[in-house]
Amino acid sequence: MSRTPSEIINDLLGFIAPSYPNIDIRAEPWEHDPNRLAVYFTDEKFSLIYPYQRWHYLTHLIPADYQDEHLSTSVWFELAPGESPADLRYPDEELIADITPDVMRILMRTGFFKRLDDVMCPVEVGKTAGECWGDFRNAVPILHNCGITEDELFDVLHVLMFQGGFCDCEILYNAVEESRLKAGYWKARAAGLEPPNPHKGA
Ligand SMILES: [Zn+2]
Repeated sequence: MSRTPSEIINDLLGFIAPSYPNIDIRAEPWEHDPNRLAVYFTDEKFSLIYPYQRWHYLTHLIPADYQDEHLSTSVWFELAPGESPADLRYPDEELIADITPDVMRILMRTGFFKRLDDVMCPVEVGKTAGECWGDFRNAVPILHNCGITEDELFDVLHVLMFQGGFCDCEILYNAVEESRLKAGYWKARAAGLEPPNPHKGA
């Protein structure tokens, strides 16, 4: 039984609204291929993150079997208010794969990971650990200090996202071999404690 666009919108709101209470979802036949459903997700919270990050968060909220059954041919547009599909810029996977070793070398050499670790998990006693807002608020100024220009940010941050670094803390958990933040997490787990969660409001 295939579901109508309005049933799909209701289902999606059920999955997504608990995390994005103000999200606006529209669904209609896609203008370029009316056999496919175009789904437009619009949320204020998207304005500070890249479309690829937006997609990552949404796809994790919608159960995989639901996606397989009802959304496998759909086309998604993750929009901040005022944006249109033409504004969305997604990464070229092949290009990101090609540049990853060089970008990682630069980030290592400039001490980016260490500096981010110092913010998110300071060694100094009494210094407050940085909070993660599920975006790159802590990482971006450090990248600039490491010589990464505004134009280079898109490529560099997508290199990190392709390694599972979708926010400041995930860079240290997933995109780098060693970090104090990751070590602290596993130390707490091994001791049977709840690891500290750097996510704001967590
Ligand atoms: Zn995070």
